Amino acid sequence: MAKILVLGGAGYIGSHTVYELIEQGFEVVVADNLETGFKAAVHPKASFYEGDIRDKSFIDGVFEKERVDAVIHFAANSQVGESMTAPLKYYDNNLGGTRTMLQSMIEHGVKYIVFSSTAATYGEPERVPILETDKTCPTNCYGETKLAMERMFYWAQQAHGIRYVSLRYFNACGAHPTADIGEAHDPETHLIPIVLQVPNGKREYLSVFGEDYDTKDGSCVRDYIHVCDLASAHVLAARYLMNGGESDIFNLGNGVGFTVKEVISCAESVVGKKIPFKVAERRAGDPALLVASSDKAKGVLGWKPRFDALDTIIATAWRWHSAHPDGYGEK
Ligand code: UDP
Repeated sequence: MAKILVLGGAGYIGSHTVYELIEQGFEVVVADNLETGFKAAVHPKASFYEGDIRDKSFIDGVFEKERVDAVIHFAANSQVGESMTAPLKYYDNNLGGTRTMLQSMIEHGVKYIVFSSTAATYGEPERVPILETDKTCPTNCYGETKLAMERMFYWAQQAHGIRYVSLRYFNACGAHPTADIGEAHDPETHLIPIVLQVPNGKREYLSVFGEDYDTKDGSCVRDYIHVCDLASAHVLAARYLMNGGESDIFNLGNGVGFTVKEVISCAESVVGKKIPFKVAERRAGDPALLVASSDKAKGVLGWKPRFDALDTIIATAWRWHSAHPDGYGEK
């Protein structure tokens, strides 16, 4: 079975992908600097290297020791708000890190890379559902760096024969059904974990950012996709490349949009408690409506989301958060 290097395999989506790879019988190597990831999230059967992909000697060492067949790359900063106040951090880590790692990959003859991209590459959509061929015009620095990383792979393919799949995800959420791993950000900014902090006794209410959008109840609409479904798409993409597939870009979403208020009321029924909220100002940079068309990933990769019902997604998140109210705890 092939050996896969997962960069950022201690993070939220990376750790779930490592679990999926191991379940499917792959050998897995994880490299992570543990800046935002957690050692406890790394599957015990994966080999683990702590270090930074901007450090050429570190990443060279990993490629030298482990003869990997493909790379799955999650190692990046991913907070939209932070990217607006600290853009150079995003250029340094996301672009600089990818450049150094790619150089090492080329030098070590590794040809395939699956890349964790984002719906933020599109910016304000011209229409929904969003297709991969739609205009990319990021409205924040995070999306801008992810788009530039995609272009870096494109040019590396032209010059060095690298083949890549870029996966543009919509709203990642949920947790592994065993509740062994799940979502843990500090600070937490994502809707579903924040909603669940209320029944978990961590906050009294949440803020709904804007109720004057042109949507059915005035709050923003998003396409929520389960982290295990994202994980299975990465594994399919790695197999696709190793089986001779061409470089390509795929959206990953459920194709169904839910408003912020619908998420809250679904969480209330999953948890069996009232979840109070207050309406606050719109959050800067939030598009009203983001919904993906994932037909291409379904057709080309054979991807099929298993957790397509919002209550099932929230139930897995609740299982994780109620069992681990402080996430993975102290690092
Ligand atoms: N949101 C909210 N209150 C919160 C956090 C998020 O109303 O405390 C809204 C946010 O404005 C967006 C949606 O929930 O419309 C999803 O936000 P999240 O940060 O989870 O993901 P994003 O869509 O920004 O990737």
